[in-house]
Amino acid sequence: MDLHKEGDRGSAKQKKVKIVFVIGGPGSGKGTQCKRIAQQFGYTHLSVGEILRQEISSGSETGSMIQKIMKEGKLVPSDVTVRLLQQAMQGINSDKFLIDGFPRNEENVKAFEDLTKMEPEFVLYLDCPQDEMEKRLLSRNEGREDDNIETIRKRFKVFMESTLPTIEYYESKGKIRKVDAGKSVDEVFESIKVIFSQGKDNKVPPSRHKCKCLIL
Ligand code: UDP
Ligand code: MG
Repeated sequence: MDLHKEGDRGSAKQKKVKIVFVIGGPGSGKGTQCKRIAQQFGYTHLSVGEILRQEISSGSETGSMIQKIMKEGKLVPSDVTVRLLQQAMQGINSDKFLIDGFPRNEENVKAFEDLTKMEPEFVLYLDCPQDEMEKRLLSRNEGREDDNIETIRKRFKVFMESTLPTIEYYESKGKIRKVDAGKSVDEVFESIKVIFSQGKDNKVPPSRHKCKCLIL
């Protein structure tokens, strides 16, 4: 279903819905920073990991399938993820969504584009060294089944193999805004604020995406 075409019966109506994706490795600080961005810039924060965990809690068959996949650090099939994400978006009357932890691979991108006919305004990439991410995950104690060293290593592998290519895809479209996420929460948020304050003017032409001197 197309969110725009849902206008006559959905909550999105005819207004233009703005989407920002936030991606980064496990433990790069997506959830922490998204909460702050949502608060300061008026976005509706949707964590796709949380949406999937809610489905697990519902006790549905889909939920138990998701649970097995998550435990192994792998990715949930795109049709399932995008359907749950779209349902969540349609249930909220907002024109600015911050989608945390999605997309994770090229199949996710395609499924999202095909189903919603929407594209992100830009993609925030939280770039963090792996040893720092590992340290954060092992000390965060959120009781997550996938925060053990064995699953963490698998999640890093999936990030490198599947998610990095999607970052390159968005980079080629001039949509990546990269921040150094290896610093303190406050320092990282300072860099993020610059990006969100720039709005439409911060578009980087695709041909300049390799230039290291720009905030990409
Ligand atoms: N996940 C997925 N597709 C998504 C988002 C999450 O399959 O689009 C699954 C995947 O198994 C991942 C887990 O949910 O390892 C946890 O994701 P979350 O974003 O909560 O973890 P983070 O990377 O922030 O630690
Ligand atoms: Mg998260």
